[in-house]
Amino acid sequence: MVKRKNLTWAAAFAAVIAACLIFIFLTGGKSGENSAEIYENGKLIKTISDLSPDKEYSFEIKTENGTNTITVGEGSIWVSVADCSNQTCVHAGKISHAGQTVICAPHKLVIKIVGETSADAVI
Ligand SMILES: [Zn+2]
Repeated sequence: MVKRKNLTWAAAFAAVIAACLIFIFLTGGKSGENSAEIYENGKLIKTISDLSPDKEYSFEIKTENGTNTITVGEGSIWVSVADCSNQTCVHAGKISHAGQTVICAPHKLVIKIVGETSADAVI
């Protein structure tokens, strides 16, 4: 009988440990996500803390030199529309890793990904 009781306790204990591990795994994955910073002329004007919204969305950044439409979704951020002269920022496409940047030189606009993963690895 004693042995059986120990076994039940062991099983209950293992279940609690497993539940904790799953909890840590789920929440840990969330906290490690990247965010994005948008700079105009070297000044931080906007921070996007969640790059994985339930639904992809766009917003406009109006600078004194022009307008960029920025889209956020699926862990990435990108310039979807811009009225700049060279369109380099639009062609840069999606960025999703810490340390990556999209630069719109004509508008002096920089989008930068910041996150848990060190930017040193990218450079
Ligand atoms: Zn541009």
